[in-house]
Amino acid sequence: MPSVSKSRSSKSPLKSSLKSAKVKKVGKAAAGKNGHSNGTAVRLGAKTLVKGAAAKVAAKPAKAAAKSVGKSAKRVYFFGGAKAEGNKDMKNLLGGKGANLAEMANIGLPVPPGFTITTDVCTEFYDNGKKLPKQLDADVRSMVARMEKLVGAKFGDPSNPLLVSVRSGARASMPGMMDTILNLGLNDKTAAGLAAKSGNERFAFDSYRRFIAMYGDVVLGLKPENKEDHDPFDEILDHKKKALGVKLDSDLPAEALKELVAEFKGAIKDRLGVDFPEDPYEQLDGAIKAVFKSWRNDRADLYRRLNNIPVEWGTAVNVQAMVFGNKGGDSATGVCFTRDPASGENMFYGEFLVNAQGEDVVAGIRTPQKIEELGKVLPEAYKQLLDIRKKLEKHYKEMQDIEFTIENKKLYMLQCRNGKRTGFAGVRIAVEMVEEKLIPKEEALRRVEPEALNQLLRPVFLPAAKKQAVAEGRLLAKGLPAGPGAATGKVVFFADEAEALAAKGETNLILCRHETSPEDIRGMNASLGFMTAFGGMTSHAALVARQMGKVCIVGCDALSFDYHARVMRVTTAKGEVVVKEGDWISIDGFAGEVIQGRVDTTPSEVIRVLIEKNLDPKEAPVYQRYAKLMSWADGARKLKVRANADQPDQGDASVAFGAEGIGLCRTEHMFFGEGKIGPMREMIVAENEADRRKALDKLLPLQREDFHGLFKSMAGRPVTIRTLDPPLHEFLPHDEAGVADLARSTGKTVEEIHTRIEELKESNPMLGHRGCRLGITYPEITEMQARAIFEAAVDLASEGEPVFPEIMIPLVGTKKELDLQADVVRKTADAVFAERGKKVGYTVGTMIEVPRAALTAGDIADTAEFFSFGTNDLTQTTFGLSRDDVPRVLAAYVSHDIYSVDPFVSVDRSGVGQLMKMAIASGRAKKPKLKIGICGEHGGDPSSVEFCHQIGLDYVSCSPYRLPIARLAAAQAALKG
Ligand code: PEP
Ligand code: MG
Repeated sequence: MPSVSKSRSSKSPLKSSLKSAKVKKVGKAAAGKNGHSNGTAVRLGAKTLVKGAAAKVAAKPAKAAAKSVGKSAKRVYFFGGAKAEGNKDMKNLLGGKGANLAEMANIGLPVPPGFTITTDVCTEFYDNGKKLPKQLDADVRSMVARMEKLVGAKFGDPSNPLLVSVRSGARASMPGMMDTILNLGLNDKTAAGLAAKSGNERFAFDSYRRFIAMYGDVVLGLKPENKEDHDPFDEILDHKKKALGVKLDSDLPAEALKELVAEFKGAIKDRLGVDFPEDPYEQLDGAIKAVFKSWRNDRADLYRRLNNIPVEWGTAVNVQAMVFGNKGGDSATGVCFTRDPASGENMFYGEFLVNAQGEDVVAGIRTPQKIEELGKVLPEAYKQLLDIRKKLEKHYKEMQDIEFTIENKKLYMLQCRNGKRTGFAGVRIAVEMVEEKLIPKEEALRRVEPEALNQLLRPVFLPAAKKQAVAEGRLLAKGLPAGPGAATGKVVFFADEAEALAAKGETNLILCRHETSPEDIRGMNASLGFMTAFGGMTSHAALVARQMGKVCIVGCDALSFDYHARVMRVTTAKGEVVVKEGDWISIDGFAGEVIQGRVDTTPSEVIRVLIEKNLDPKEAPVYQRYAKLMSWADGARKLKVRANADQPDQGDASVAFGAEGIGLCRTEHMFFGEGKIGPMREMIVAENEADRRKALDKLLPLQREDFHGLFKSMAGRPVTIRTLDPPLHEFLPHDEAGVADLARSTGKTVEEIHTRIEELKESNPMLGHRGCRLGITYPEITEMQARAIFEAAVDLASEGEPVFPEIMIPLVGTKKELDLQADVVRKTADAVFAERGKKVGYTVGTMIEVPRAALTAGDIADTAEFFSFGTNDLTQTTFGLSRDDVPRVLAAYVSHDIYSVDPFVSVDRSGVGQLMKMAIASGRAKKPKLKIGICGEHGGDPSSVEFCHQIGLDYVSCSPYRLPIARLAAAQAALKG
C-alpha cells in the first residue's frame, strides 16, 4: 500500500521552510552570551529522530548509489514465486521497500510478483538529463513477461489484463514524500476487459478512475492551484457524490464511476491540453520517470535536507502486480504494526478497510476499522496475518510496519519495514525485546534514538486541571491518540501560517486540519501538536507525529472545517461548538481527547520520580524502562557525562539525570540572583580599584553561598567553575529606573551613570573586554571569585562533606593569560587555606575556545591542569561568524550546502573538530593524563558526542535535561567503537 502522496498545494516555498526549521535550532543553541546555558532542555525531536534513522542506514557502505551504472550492471531485480534476486541487505541498491519485498518473498510470505529498478538507475536518470537508460525498456519488458507468467495475465491484454503498481522506495524511509501510481495498465479496453473478467464492473471502473486521478496528478501534473482549493479530481468526485446524494465513494454505482472516468479525462484534456495515454507501456514509462523525478520534488528535497539524506542516494522504483482490496466484501486493505507504535505495547496494532484500495487507509478518505475486527470479517486472512506478524518479528527482530491487501479472501503482503515509533514506544520496544531475549542489550541501546528520550520528559495534563475541564463540559471530542503527550495552544488552520507565527515567536500552536499532507510538514514542525478530522493511526499526520515527537490526534470525525471562514465546528452531544482561529485548545495525545480552552500541564513520570520525587518508581512503568535503558547505557559508555549547571536545584537535577560532575558553572548567571545585580553593577561602573573592591566585598558572601549550595548538591563530584566571562555591559541597566537605582546606590548622578555606560560600550563585545581579559584588567574580580570558591569549599570540608572545585579560566589565547589568572587563583587558595587552617584539593584549568588556544595548547598545558572545549565560542571564532547573528545567514548557507548542518548545533568536524584534535594531541603530549572535556552546547548533541568519544575526550557536559541523551549517545558511540 502506498503512502499518500497527493499534492495539496502547488506553491511550496521550500527554501523558507528550511530556513525556519534550521533557524529555530540555531536560536536555541546560540541565544546570546547569557541566554543559552539552560534553555536547551527540550529540543525538537523531529529532525534528529529521522536524522538518526537516516544516519544508521548511511552507516552502511554507500558505494552503490554514488556511482553510475556500467553497461553490464544489473538494473532490475525480480521478486515473486517464493524467491527473489535481492534480499533485505540490499537497501542501498533496491531501496528499503524493494529489499524487504525481496526478503519477504525469500522467506515464503505471499508477495505479489514484481521487480525493482535500482537506485543506481535513478542516478543514471539524472546524469542523463532525466532520461531513462536505453536498455531499461528491454529489461522492463522482460521482467513484465516474468510477472505475466506468475500471475497468469498479460499487460495490456483486454481480455485478461495484468495491472501493476509503480512505487518509489529510497534507502531511508521518506513517508509520503515521493510518488506512487496504482492500477497502471488500465485503459478503455482493459477496463472493459477487467469488468468482464471479474464480473464486477463497479470494481473495474473504480480502479480505472483512481488510476486516472493518480496518473493525472503525479505524471501529468494536474494539481490544486492554491491552498484553499481542493484536489481537482476530488472536486469532481465530490460533485458527483453530491449530485447522486451519496456519502461514501463506495456508494457510487458503476455507471457513475464510468462517468467519472470520462470527466477526469476531460479535465486533463481541458486543463493540460494533453490526452490521457492509453498505451500501457507508455503509461509505465511515464510512471517510472515520474517516480524518479519525485526524488527531487520540493517535498522530498526538504525532507532529505531536514534528515541528512544525501541526494546521491536516489530512489528505487518498484513495479509490482496489483492485487485488489476493492473487489467487494471479501477484499480489504490495511496497515499494521507488530507492536503499538505509540505506546510500544506488545500487541498487534493496525487498521483496515473492507472493499478499499491502499491509499484510502493512509489518506483518511474513510476512517478505518481496528485490526482485531478483521478476525470477525475475514477470519482466515486474519489468522494468517497473526502468523506473519510473529514470523516477521522473529525474522527481523524488530517492530515491523506491514502493509497488506486481501483480494477475495486471499492475503498478500505489500510491504514491511522497521516501523516508525514514538520515543515512548522506542524505549519500551527496545527494553522489552531484551527481556523477551529477542535482542541483546547492546542492540537495544543502538536502536533508541537519543533525542527521542526527550519525549519521556514531556509534560502531561495536570490531572486536576483536566478533570475540571471535563467537569466544565469542555471535553469536545475524541479521536485516535497518535502522538503521546499533552499540548495546549492556539488553533491555527494552515501550516504555512503556523510556520510564520512560530517565526514570530509564537510557541503555543495547535495545527488543526481536515487532514495533513506532506506539504504541511513545516507547519507541523512549528506546532506543539496537531489534530485531524480524518485518517487513522497510519495517516500522514500520525506518521509525522511519531517522527517529530509531537502530540497528535487523528480521525476525530466530530470536527469539520470551513477554511474560508477560518473556523472549525465540533459536533458534541450538546450541539455544535465553533472554534475560531486563535482560540485556545488542548489535546491529549495519550487519550485522544480534544478539550476546549487551556488545560495546565504537569511533568512526566520520569520528572516526577527523579526531580520532583513525588512518585514512587514502582508506580511508574515509563520511568522503570527509562532507568533500565539508562543503566545499560552507563555500562556501555566510555565518556563521562557532566552538566552545565549554576544553581543547587540544577545540581540536584543533574545528579538525578546521571551527571558525574559539573562541567561548567557559568558564574555570571549567579549575578542575576536575588540581591546580586545591584553590587554587580556597582562593581562594573566603579572607576577605580578601591570602589570596585567595595562592590566585590558585597558580592563575596553571596557568591560563597552560591558555591556552597552547588558543591553540596554535587556531593563531592567535581565542579568546574568558570571565572567571570561575558562582556560587562550585559549586566548594566537598560531602563531609566535601573539607571536611577544604580545612581542611588553608588552616590553618582544619573548623568554620570549614563556617561559611564557610554564609556563601557564596545563595538564588538563578543571579541572585546570579556573572558580572562576581565580578570587580567581587574584581577580583584578573579580574586573575589576564587575566595568565594575556596571559602565555600573549606566550609563544606569542615562540615565533613566532600568537595572538589576545578577553577576554569575562559577565553584564554596565550599561556601568559592563563599563568596570570592561575596565579591569582592559587595565591587566593593559599591565603584562604592559611586563614582557615584547612586545605581542599582543587585544579586550575582553561577553556579552549579560541583558535589560538587550540594551536598553542601544548604551551598552555604547561600551566593548565585540564582543558574544556568551549565549542560555542570556538565555532564562533573559527568560522568568524557571530553566534548571535548566525540565523541571518544560516538558511541560505544550508540551502546552498555550504553547511550541511548548523555548526552551532553539531561540531564542525573538519574545521572546529580539527582544532580540537590538535589541541588534544599537543596538550596530552605535554601531560599524557590531561583531563579534557567539552562544555559548549554541542556536549548534548548526539553526533557531537560521538565525535567527542572518537577524539578521546574524558567527558561531555551539557544542560541537565539533555543528560539522558548524552548518556545514550555516548553509549552508542562506544558500541560503534
Ligand atoms: C562556549 O563558548 O562553548 C562556552 C561553553 O562558553 P559560553 O557559551 O558561556 O561562552
Ligand atoms: Mg565561551
